Amino acid sequence: MKFSAVEKLIQNIRQDYQIFAPVKDDKEFFVSKISDLKQIDYSGRLPLNSWKHLFLPPGEELLEFSKKFRRPDSVYPRRCAWNMGFPDLKALGLLDVVFADDPYYQDRRRNILVCGLAVGEPDVENYAEHVKFSRRLAEDSLEHVTFDIFLEKTKKGTFDFFAGSVLGREVLSRNKIKNFTNVQFAGYIPEQGPDADMLSKQSLIKKSMKHRLWDELAEICLACGKCSLVCPTCFCFDTEDQAQEKTVSRQRVWGSCFYPEFTRLAGGTDYTATVKQKLQFWYEHKFVRIPAEYAMPGCVSCGRCAKVCPVGIDIAKNFVRLSEGSRGLPATITSRAGNS
Ligand code: SF4
Ligand code: SF4
Repeated sequence: MKFSAVEKLIQNIRQDYQIFAPVKDDKEFFVSKISDLKQIDYSGRLPLNSWKHLFLPPGEELLEFSKKFRRPDSVYPRRCAWNMGFPDLKALGLLDVVFADDPYYQDRRRNILVCGLAVGEPDVENYAEHVKFSRRLAEDSLEHVTFDIFLEKTKKGTFDFFAGSVLGREVLSRNKIKNFTNVQFAGYIPEQGPDADMLSKQSLIKKSMKHRLWDELAEICLACGKCSLVCPTCFCFDTEDQAQEKTVSRQRVWGSCFYPEFTRLAGGTDYTATVKQKLQFWYEHKFVRIPAEYAMPGCVSCGRCAKVCPVGIDIAKNFVRLSEGSRGLPATITSRAGNS
């Protein structure tokens, strides 16, 4: 379908939802609240700030105490996350699983219409080949992420539509878009079993804790935590109590294993006291513990962490270093955020 159909769709969605989408700001792309639909970027580049803040805000009030604890009367506006890239849909899948029993997350999540975008494939002139590609996209990839609507932008600039939920089908049908592919969610883990790349990285990190790379990184890492702020899969949080005159408010705020006190225990023990320990803790969480607990990757290879690191620490290069001497172990993470 032509771009005009996409424009009409988003205009109509805007009647019911606040729109959040990637916007180009100077040379970089950011997820922003959209006031003018013409600002929206359709290049498929991953925005630097990820979409995490829509689903898990940097700070939110969990409880207030005044004579007794109560959950505040929060309002969760209807929002549309428009043009989420495939790595970010994978990251959202992890958040959905981790916060499956979290009422705050779930109440907010229910009001977010998730619309994905893939761009630039396939590079084929032949329509039959294109149909085959779309089928593969649906069967191999889209079946294993959750979304409402997905757009595939072809090299010719036309769009194919996919619906991944009842809501997505309703929205497309309401907008008189009949030509779309239905995708049935088949679970986050593919039929052939957990992701092979995830398992090889898990094994590599486990056996690399004595590699000299960690000492080299610890010498330059500032422990600023920028990498975890932009990472779409970093979901750790802290709770803080803020006292007002007559009430106390309990807040959930984004945490980072690079922050001081993140793992400090009563009595003063801190098992990530050194920068080397913090770095190892971060990698172990993403590549060892998350796969072990959820059978899902804790890293979606978006490249944001490398892009924002002020001292140039690059996760892809680190995997190359760690796999030196370990034949056959892939290092497939590429720095894609904003520069693919
Ligand atoms: S962004 Fe770079 S310097 Fe900052 S904590 Fe992460 S790895 Fe260390
Ligand atoms: S590449 Fe970096 S920012 Fe992206 S998911 Fe992996 S660890 Fe997080």
